[in-house]
Amino acid sequence: MTDDSLIAVQPAASQHKTTCCYCGVGCGVNAQVSHGTVIAVSGDRNHPANLGRLCVKGTALHQTSQSPDRLLHPMVNGVRSTWDAALEHTANGFRRIIDEHGPNAVAFYLSGQLLTEDYYVANKLMKGFIGTANVDTNSRLCMAAATVAHKKAFGYDTVPGCYEDLETTDLLVLVGSNTAYAHPVVFQRIVKAKAERPDMKVVVIDPRRTATCDIADLHLALRPGADAFLFNGLLSYLADHDGLDQDFINSSCEGLDAALASARAQVPSVAQAATICDVPAADLEQFYQLFCATPKAVTVFSQGINQSSSGVDKGSSIINCHLASGKIGKPGATPFSITGQPNAMGGREVGGLANQLAAHMGFDNPAHIDKVARFWHAPNMAQHEGLKAVDMFEAIHRGEIKAVWIMATNPVVSMPDANFVREALERCELVVVNECIANTDTAKLANVLLPATTWSEKHGTVTNSERCISLQKGLVPAPGEALNDWDILCRFARKLGFEQGFDYQHPVDIFREHAALSAFENNGERDFDISAFATISKADYNQLAPVQWPVNAAAPNGTKRMFSDGRFFTPSKRARLISVTARFPKKPPNNGQMIMNTGRIRDQWHTMSRTGNAPHLMSHMDEPGVDIHPADAKQLGLSEGELAVLENLGARYLGRIKLNDGQRRGEVFVPIHWNDRFASSSRADALVNAITDPICGQPEFKHSPVKVSAYKPVWQGYLHTTQDLAPASDYWCKILLATGFKYRLAHNAECDWAKWLRSAYPQVNDWVEIRDSARAFYTGAGFVNGALVVALHVSRDGKDVAEHRWLDDQLGQPCDLNQRFAVLAGHGGSDVEDEGRIVCSCYQVGEKAIVKAIAEGAHNSAALGEKLRCGTNCGSCLPELNQLVNIHYLAKLATAVE
Ligand code: SF4
Repeated sequence: MTDDSLIAVQPAASQHKTTCCYCGVGCGVNAQVSHGTVIAVSGDRNHPANLGRLCVKGTALHQTSQSPDRLLHPMVNGVRSTWDAALEHTANGFRRIIDEHGPNAVAFYLSGQLLTEDYYVANKLMKGFIGTANVDTNSRLCMAAATVAHKKAFGYDTVPGCYEDLETTDLLVLVGSNTAYAHPVVFQRIVKAKAERPDMKVVVIDPRRTATCDIADLHLALRPGADAFLFNGLLSYLADHDGLDQDFINSSCEGLDAALASARAQVPSVAQAATICDVPAADLEQFYQLFCATPKAVTVFSQGINQSSSGVDKGSSIINCHLASGKIGKPGATPFSITGQPNAMGGREVGGLANQLAAHMGFDNPAHIDKVARFWHAPNMAQHEGLKAVDMFEAIHRGEIKAVWIMATNPVVSMPDANFVREALERCELVVVNECIANTDTAKLANVLLPATTWSEKHGTVTNSERCISLQKGLVPAPGEALNDWDILCRFARKLGFEQGFDYQHPVDIFREHAALSAFENNGERDFDISAFATISKADYNQLAPVQWPVNAAAPNGTKRMFSDGRFFTPSKRARLISVTARFPKKPPNNGQMIMNTGRIRDQWHTMSRTGNAPHLMSHMDEPGVDIHPADAKQLGLSEGELAVLENLGARYLGRIKLNDGQRRGEVFVPIHWNDRFASSSRADALVNAITDPICGQPEFKHSPVKVSAYKPVWQGYLHTTQDLAPASDYWCKILLATGFKYRLAHNAECDWAKWLRSAYPQVNDWVEIRDSARAFYTGAGFVNGALVVALHVSRDGKDVAEHRWLDDQLGQPCDLNQRFAVLAGHGGSDVEDEGRIVCSCYQVGEKAIVKAIAEGAHNSAALGEKLRCGTNCGSCLPELNQLVNIHYLAKLATAVE
């Protein structure tokens, strides 16, 4: 442990407050630490973001931060190194490339997982000292559009509202946001608010009927990408139906006439808007009427808006409607961009994007460049913005950027055209990766691999979606030789000769400097001001209570809501309405193609490098899927439970078909999480075109034309094994079990499975097997000292190899003759009940048990919780429980009444 603020190894259990490291909700966590390990977590009732709640990912924090694949030592070209040698090697590489090709030949690619202090040091080093703004972050993929839309409207990148507004509003509009899965604790807060005030209306605008629609009074399943048309239509409607707040417009806005003219030119009527957006006109009119007539309205927007080739315009079209109707800066009335990552906002505060400077300043203002340079005493201040993520990897591919340092992110999985990104890194002269996990898809390509601390080890601040700064605490010692990212960067900076400016001893030194810069020659002109912390003591920092910025002399306790005085941060102090000409996605599908939409599932985080290690987080959805409308499936010859193959850009994605009439025709949905560690061919982003918004550079993840067809395997089945391996099959996906692994397999060629098993398991000489004479199925099981180490069940049509969860618990178990037969049969007999697909991850409650309980009289989620405990911990499964009650009780009841 290098940091005296970190809590020394606790001999007995002790309780500490910290913050969740997953999504942008930023929940407060009570962590119980014993003997240098976090052994339990619970929600912090005093944290304003979650008020005691945690979702399923949050409740697994202590499990997901411990990994057998932990990176423990620096590695150079695959060989263990010392810190000094690894950083010397890195510094020599950077120095040589900068000397020969200039500073723009190097780049940093950062992450919303970094703490603000890490982010600050990285940006200062590159933009102020090395002299390039080639610093971008995976937040580019998440909310770059919203930052620009904010800046255009408000002068700076300001999120006006707070979570409380989502509860106190009378109309909550959720656009392009599956809040139930992506921001589960915020969703639970909304659910509670709506239960307490049933008159509160919820409108979901999303091409898919997602779990979030569970609480929707109205769902507008619009044509993908039509959002700006819809909100331009709303602006026209407001103007035509006395919905403008003329007083607010007169005192606080500019640009209405031009914005309205653009909106009217494109979408003059509800009927036209409905046609363009492909939604029923009556439904759209209902939404427009509601918005027009409800003074307290909140519009939450997220990736469905941002991940678009016109994401900035979409954000602007939403903000326009709030400005024009005066629904901003008041309790329960605001546009609200909700961020994906735990510290996307902190990254924005320190200028983590290539077009930003620290403290919300920007390269578009020469005075800002000068201010930051003077404050830092920067010897080589960058004068122009750098390359945004997609452009950066293209420059690496072309050989223009010759050294890249990637921190806490996995671009080989998460970037669009991910195979191109992999190729770019393979070509790059020097790839440095800071990671906590040794074998991510990106770490495998590193020349220099540096072990970094992770949640519960690192110490610093994060800012959530409502501008709330919280401390993520160092609670346990760093394993092996892992170091904090800021420390790694400072050591590297000193090796480059930048002794001054990188001599921090503790994260509080960085935080104080960050706070001082926010106040530097600010005079109320800039939104981001945390000057109250410019002299914070280490003791106060180590106990920092959550607080929403600005935090300054005028607001020493922070600021819940911005713009309540009707003053904005533009030169005129008026908010700007932006003229928006709405556009559809750049690449429409060709004949025969479908539109692939990508997004999160409930229990996984990003590229699974941490959540993939917790077996119970994989039990809700254990395999990459393809959601498709039943009519499309029928047309393509696809059936529920079979495999589909999606193709684009020479890449393919294999996933299990899930028929879903909540999908629009012509569209499929696939999860973003799977990678080469967990599946053979399921990196969804390899199929995403690298098309970006021309202003903010955010990629169009939500709209990729792909070819969809049935995958026709010769063999398919599943493998239970105590050893982690790559099976001899064209398709496989890996599912973690408590005692080993389960692989689902599909192979497109003949295979001698018995022979393969013997070659993969040379240590086994005790086999039992069944193979039919027609060679239509094979099952084999291998034992060492009588205990099961491998069991394979494959057949030609997949029908004779139905899976039962019983077998998942048998690995490592001693097996007598009867049990050996049971293993070959794949189930424990008729008296062993199978619960089916897991719905409640916390208590491992399966769908079959839930359906049975519904049939026995548990007719709502509360009754199910009482009977089976499902839904009573984190609540993430409540929408699915309600859905099952709908299908298996309410729908049947309605049919019976008819
Ligand atoms: S909603 Fe879940 S993942 Fe997000 S911060 Fe809270 S506990 Fe963490």
